[in-house]
Amino acid sequence: MKKVLFVSSEVYPLIKTGGLADVCGSLPPALLELGTDVRLIMPNYQAIKTTEEIYFKSTVQVNRMDVNILETRLPGTQIVVWLVDYPMFFDFPGNPYVDEKGDPWLNSAERFALLCRVAVEVSMNRGYLDWEPDIVHCNDWQTGLVPALLSLETHRPATVFTIHNMAYQGLFPKETCGLLNIPRELWHLDGLEFNGFFSFIKGGLAYADRITTVSPTYAEEIQTAEFGYGFEGLLSHRKEDLIGIINGIDVEHWNPKADIHIAAPYDALSLAKKQLSKSALQAKVALPVDNKVPVFTLISRLVEQKGIDLILDCLPEMLTLPLQFILLGSGDKVFEQKLNDFAKQNPEKMAVTLGYDEVMAHQMEAGADVFLMPSRFEPCGLNQLYSQRYGTVPIVRKTGGLADTVCDALPETFTNKTATGFVFDDATAGALMEVIKRSVLVYGFSELWSQLQLNGMQKDYSWLRSAKEYQALYEQL
Ligand code: ADP
Repeated sequence: MKKVLFVSSEVYPLIKTGGLADVCGSLPPALLELGTDVRLIMPNYQAIKTTEEIYFKSTVQVNRMDVNILETRLPGTQIVVWLVDYPMFFDFPGNPYVDEKGDPWLNSAERFALLCRVAVEVSMNRGYLDWEPDIVHCNDWQTGLVPALLSLETHRPATVFTIHNMAYQGLFPKETCGLLNIPRELWHLDGLEFNGFFSFIKGGLAYADRITTVSPTYAEEIQTAEFGYGFEGLLSHRKEDLIGIINGIDVEHWNPKADIHIAAPYDALSLAKKQLSKSALQAKVALPVDNKVPVFTLISRLVEQKGIDLILDCLPEMLTLPLQFILLGSGDKVFEQKLNDFAKQNPEKMAVTLGYDEVMAHQMEAGADVFLMPSRFEPCGLNQLYSQRYGTVPIVRKTGGLADTVCDALPETFTNKTATGFVFDDATAGALMEVIKRSVLVYGFSELWSQLQLNGMQKDYSWLRSAKEYQALYEQL
């Protein structure tokens, strides 16, 4: 049985700011189910929430600091979680990256370097925990120093580094390297130096035995200048060690057959009942309750990454088509204002809800016919997966995980039953408008439409499927 130590700055449900926490809370239980002995290590933030007991385990000395290691379980599982307890760094209100006021922690580098150093001690079985992993699995820049520091050890475990989003790299002034007492032999062009800066993520990219990211297409894209943020050369140099594995989704929580938030449960055999959720959704947002008109939705952070500007450019023409558009999101104030204005001018066709609303997100997935996701880049993406599970047909741009999980509706993909949505290539309003029109056209052919829905609903996006791919990777190491 392989022993794997997971290192992460956030783990759901202990603490979450984004998708990273979901992966680190869902993948380990799936790996355990497949027979991997997996344990987690993360900082002991003040904001951690758990129903499980937390107890003292040991004290280690790193970089002249005495750090306690506490032990708890991932709630609802048997998985051991070690908490790096150093109150001077972590016992403050706020989240892993920003303080209570929303300002980035001034000592971010120190905080995550400490996590990395303790993770190294535990990896080398010097944490007085009597456990020695075969593999250390690191996640995003906050853990990038682990593979670098472990490279200096003899008889070390193998290392895996997963990129959840290349947009965040942990860049600090070069003096930080000295401040953190990082061994000098790691500071060079092929090491932690990046254009004169000290880079955490480069520790993972340069030193990990294997690099993964959250979709095969994103693994290709980050080897290009458009998506690589200057690391494209290094990543293409390491392409033999780089693979993409699609994230899973929580198939219990996102299950139209047992969703407590929706008007009436349904599955592939009772798809007609989806209409009840559609009517309920139309009524909820005060649009005309009409079963015949296709309902388009979008749930998203309203930021440029998500292609919101493309949507805005499409809206004047889109709203002349026989459709309704229901949007839920928050983010950029300019986007919020413009979307609201469109909704006010078109009260019969468009409704906007600003804010974050998990329940409404479920109701929209269940009640919609089409889900829009025109992202400029998307490492994996979740909503296109939820949509397929709910028989809601996604429209996506051909990038990252969207390209890997949605198959364009074409004559040949209808014939071989792989079509699940509509895909466009260029990040332009014209290209998006074209697929929107194509989807409205296909919606008029109810047999074709239900085939699209059923093809999507039959796909397996469980964590177990992803975990098997990670397990195969671990076996190679
Ligand atoms: P990202 O992590 O880049 O924001 P993903 O598609 O991977 O994009 O995941 C976004 C998650 O957040 C999805 O589960 C989506 O439903 C949810 N979400 C985003 N905005 C909202 C919102 N305003 N209300 C409810 N859920 C939201």
